[in-house]
Amino acid sequence: MIDHYSRLIDYMRISITDRCNLRCSYCMPDGIEKLEHESILTYEEILRICSCASEVGIRNIKITGGEPLVRKDAVKLISWIKALPKIEHVTLTTNGVLLEQYIDELKEIPVDGINVSLDTLNPETFEQITGRDDYFKVWNSIQKLIESGIPAKINCVPQRGVNDQELMDIAELAVKQQIDVRFIEMMPIGHGRESTGIRGEEIHEMIRGRYPGAVSTSNRRGFGPAVYITADDWKGNIGFISPISHKFCSSCNRIRLTSRGFLKPCLCYGNGIDLMAAIRHGASNQEITELITGAIRSKPLEHRLGDHNQEDLEKNEMYKIGG
Ligand code: SAM
Ligand code: SF4
Repeated sequence: MIDHYSRLIDYMRISITDRCNLRCSYCMPDGIEKLEHESILTYEEILRICSCASEVGIRNIKITGGEPLVRKDAVKLISWIKALPKIEHVTLTTNGVLLEQYIDELKEIPVDGINVSLDTLNPETFEQITGRDDYFKVWNSIQKLIESGIPAKINCVPQRGVNDQELMDIAELAVKQQIDVRFIEMMPIGHGRESTGIRGEEIHEMIRGRYPGAVSTSNRRGFGPAVYITADDWKGNIGFISPISHKFCSSCNRIRLTSRGFLKPCLCYGNGIDLMAAIRHGASNQEITELITGAIRSKPLEHRLGDHNQEDLEKNEMYKIGG
């Protein structure tokens, strides 16, 4: 569906759980209060929403969280969504801790891409950032993922004084291995407000310094807002997602569904539509579809991340929104 500002909205991110097995300092350092099972969408409800969303042009779905793989049968959910007639692509964003054991199953579906978050190549720094000693589980998952041939990306959030010394080593993974590496600017959402990110441009310049042959590539790699560079002898690409220094709202293509069934037209604002309440009050598929249409119609022109007037801005943490 085309929204009020002529943008094609064909992508929905779904957070299937608030829970996570890591405690990233900029996301959920203190864990979460456990939700009752009834307060999150069932898989049946998620499938119904995907099916209704596909009626208004949603074609691509991202499964995220919290950590999606901590929810039982997350991989089955991916296969069920992928089987919906009008859904074309289903991808997964994970911290990689539990990924290795599911790669064969995910390949079989086949999932259309997997993003693994990795902010460091140093096991000690990993524990400092995530609160858990799980670096090698993530690393092994990434290696098996590359071998599987599933389109793979690493998401790295650079932080001053934390991983800034090793960003070139992380970038080099895309030079040597068949994987894209994307640097994501820290967003002032939740605990992200207390962390110091690094502008994409600064990293871009460092990479250009080291690899003068790298050029911008217009090849679209997935459904997101990353801009990429590459070189003839690289195996992968390096991308930059820079919502703060380079707003990409004019080409935004997405809506977001939280695990509690709240449909958000924009990451930045607190408003949205309570689809869980509608479903549990007996809404028909047509009514759900109309609510989704309404959410897309109300999609704002642009975000105001970093604005000091916080009144209408999102108060939830990133793990509740799904990133
Ligand atoms: N647990 C999964 C993971 O870590 O990939 C999926 C959910 S996580 C919320 C999705 C992405 O959001 C991760 O790449 C994470 O690094 C990123 N993220 C979390 N908080 C952020 C923030 N304040 N600014 C920018 N990215 C953030
Ligand atoms: Fe968990 Fe992902 Fe948040 Fe880290 S960024 S705490 S892995 S949800």
